[in-house]
Amino acid sequence: MTEEGARLSELAKRRGFFFRTAAAYGGVAGFYTYGPQGATLKDNVEAAWRDRFVTREGHMEVSSPDVMPEAVFEASGHLDGFDDMLVDCPECGASHRADHLVEDATDVADAESMSPQAVGELIAEHDIACPACGVALAGEPVEEFNLMFETTIGPGSGSAGYLRPETAQGIFVEFPQLAEYARNQLPFGVAQIGDAYRNEISPRKGLVRVRAFTQAELEHFVDPEEDEPPIERVADVTLPLYSAQAQQHGGEVRELTVGEAIEEGVVANDWIAYYLGVATPWYERIGVDMDRFRYRQHLPGELAHYAADCWDAETEVDGDWIEATGFATRADYDLAKHAEHSGEDYSVFKQYDEPIAVERPTVDPDMSVLGPEFGGAAGEVADALRSLAERDPDAFDGQEVTVEVDDTAHTVPVEATGFGIEEVTESGEHVRPHVIEPSFGVGRLVYTVLAHCYETDLVDGDERTYLALPPEIAPTTVGVFPLMDKDGLGERARDVERELRAAGLAVAYDDSGAIGRRYRRQDEVGTPFCVTVDYDTLDDHTVTVRDRDSTDQKRVAIEGLPGTLRSLRDGDLAFADL
Ligand code: AMP
Repeated sequence: MTEEGARLSELAKRRGFFFRTAAAYGGVAGFYTYGPQGATLKDNVEAAWRDRFVTREGHMEVSSPDVMPEAVFEASGHLDGFDDMLVDCPECGASHRADHLVEDATDVADAESMSPQAVGELIAEHDIACPACGVALAGEPVEEFNLMFETTIGPGSGSAGYLRPETAQGIFVEFPQLAEYARNQLPFGVAQIGDAYRNEISPRKGLVRVRAFTQAELEHFVDPEEDEPPIERVADVTLPLYSAQAQQHGGEVRELTVGEAIEEGVVANDWIAYYLGVATPWYERIGVDMDRFRYRQHLPGELAHYAADCWDAETEVDGDWIEATGFATRADYDLAKHAEHSGEDYSVFKQYDEPIAVERPTVDPDMSVLGPEFGGAAGEVADALRSLAERDPDAFDGQEVTVEVDDTAHTVPVEATGFGIEEVTESGEHVRPHVIEPSFGVGRLVYTVLAHCYETDLVDGDERTYLALPPEIAPTTVGVFPLMDKDGLGERARDVERELRAAGLAVAYDDSGAIGRRYRRQDEVGTPFCVTVDYDTLDDHTVTVRDRDSTDQKRVAIEGLPGTLRSLRDGDLAFADL
């Protein structure tokens, strides 16, 4: 672990942001508990996400169970295809992601797309050793390992269930109800914030690769023929884009506006470009350092089993780029699979403005001719004629028409097929929506924000560390201190504390130690403002408000203080303008 990672986990543990789960029992890899500071920070990131991606976009939100029956994941493809490559060390027994070992040791950028056998060969060829004990891994079997946690539903052997590996399936499987709720009007978006579980082969780097994590996912269902995103709202947002082509040909990140990225075809899907445009200012809003941020397109072999194109928002932490969000086009993959497996209707009925007359080819075979001619196959020949008429009406232009049933060609006189064209009125059509999915990992964002907001400076000649968290995201908005806990200052400060809490502000009260030390404690957890009650307060009913980043202080009347602090938190007022 590098310096940044070590510093982060020390602070996280000491100040209650996050720590290993069940450390009393030795802990368990890949599981973390958010402490009091971290849980609130995470809640605030989720609230900012909900505000931007649900409320302001006008989307719906659902909440589905963490455990789902096997049929859901059989249909979604996770049962078969949600695997990583595993290699075990013959000496110490440590398990490793075989593709990661190869990527770390060679020039190969997407070992994930290779076969386990090819990855095994590269391990041997490059003499890759176990990172834990140094023993050579050449010749060890590389196997596909399914990442889903399996469980049983109900007592006894029960029926198989799985902890969801993504919240998305909880949305897709309910599409028929959701479409009805949206009155069959495309486009509409459905979001979910919830936990997902993956039995990762080698969890690592704090919150970055864990086995239980929170996702904030949005599934935007659109009519692929008709719906266009409101690009004009984000056309001028600048995106740092690292395309697949640039990655493959030694190119670099290019700064393009959303409008330019679409025009140059760098981002092929307008909806993806739209969401990159929406997300970029949002990352900045929650405290991501945009100099340590990029959008990287997936290489062809890297795409998930359901994705047609994908761009990841990546943040740099600890010298590594981590995937904080995936922006994927899932086309109609999931809805088609659930339709096929469940037999239910996973489409919307799109009503035309006015009914339209369409010509439809029909066949009405003369069974008194087909029966004697084809015997037991006559019914199948009739079906084959019907589907041929739909596919290729021109085939009925001649004297005879030929169809194949079970690899045998059957020729039928056209006049015995009853072929004709009828005019019918249609009021609408069934459309299977395409899906655009921005999928955010909340823990990775929390981790990024903690790393990117970590600052040090000199205050009165002493080094101080502080978290420059945006006030909206900071777990505590205001620290309240009595200068000293005597002469009634403590009581007055408690009054202020109560008043601020009643106004819905997150408050920390602290009366222990020198005032400077109390400021440092709040700085370290990112509290943007501190209020101090002193002797003047008793006379003039004002307090000192101190700003975390500048350490500047101003006198402010207690009357109206809750409103002032709320405005500071919500960004409606700048400290300098107080
Ligand atoms: P994916 O479906 O793999 O694209 O994941 C969607 C998002 O979930 C990613 O962008 C990550 O932010 C997050 N994520 C995926 N796997 C993990 C993990 N093992 N630990 C923490 N976050 C994860």
